Amino acid sequence: MDDLRSGTRNKRGDWSPSHHPEIAFYWKTPFDLRKWGKFLIDYVWPWNAFHMAITLLYWHFILPDWEVMKTLSWDWALWLYAVNGLGIFLLYGSIELVYYVKRRQGTRFKYNAKFPSEQPSDVFWFKSQNIDNFLRSYLSGIVFWTLVEVLMLWCYANHYVYWLNWSEHPVWLTLLLFATPLIHEVNFFVIHRVIHIPFFYKWIHSVHHNSINPSPWSSLSMHPVETFLYHGVIWWHLVLPSNPLIALFQLHMAGYGALNGHIGFDKLELSDETALDSHAYLHYLHHKYFEVNYGADGLIPLDYWFGTWHDGSKEAQAKMDERYEKKVARLNS
Ligand SMILES: [Zn+2]
Ligand SMILES: [Zn+2]
Repeated sequence: MDDLRSGTRNKRGDWSPSHHPEIAFYWKTPFDLRKWGKFLIDYVWPWNAFHMAITLLYWHFILPDWEVMKTLSWDWALWLYAVNGLGIFLLYGSIELVYYVKRRQGTRFKYNAKFPSEQPSDVFWFKSQNIDNFLRSYLSGIVFWTLVEVLMLWCYANHYVYWLNWSEHPVWLTLLLFATPLIHEVNFFVIHRVIHIPFFYKWIHSVHHNSINPSPWSSLSMHPVETFLYHGVIWWHLVLPSNPLIALFQLHMAGYGALNGHIGFDKLELSDETALDSHAYLHYLHHKYFEVNYGADGLIPLDYWFGTWHDGSKEAQAKMDERYEKKVARLNS
């Protein structure tokens, strides 16, 4: 595929898209029905459909009996850790293998022309971003994801929280299911903005930001506190009346969906004609510039409203530079 038909490449070889990401259309033209049709298809397919498929697999084949989950135990906690670890290994590992190890599409659609394995650095364990990110994912990211999951299932099993049935509350639960990406974006923006406060950044979030040029293994390479807050998005379902299937879907959107921002390619070529949109650009810019794009795709565009939206355009760059200069002047005065 010719990536220069939809983007440009600079002298360093870094590629960027010509079409800049936009906030969700309904904030500007809410009554455009054709846009709603396309939006809803993109909303569901393919990523959220994938997370739902994974959730249904867990629901039917992985989760222990609710009777078992009434009691906290290492047995089922370790079982869930093993399944989460294997699931991540298969999903992240296969993308890493095809696009970063075998480099099937070279640097086509790749934001940063360099691959992390070409840039050893002292900030990483064993000087390797890949080894560091992989180990941190399994020693921290997936551990605290599983801890959050176990606590959530234990609360539901004991009916410590609302458990609404689909047959009695189909409308509310369907609305809530469709709202999960919105909840994800708000939760992510808030916790992410907090851990960018210098004190928390230094102790917590800098671990994740060591990867300036992220790859799939960077996704869950987080400090324990960050991964606990990030996966803690499911506490929303312990407060709002909900259902464990939706809570589990919300959790998988965080755990498996963390991949999206860290793919490093704008599109993954599936054949000569077709490619999968990664939705990675905004978060890639966050890793590059740090103080922009704290949220996700702009479904609830908090970055846009708070002035930290960066879509890769010259205007957004100038706005960020101006903000940065003001900050330096403030610190100096
Ligand atoms: Zn990230
Ligand atoms: Zn950050």
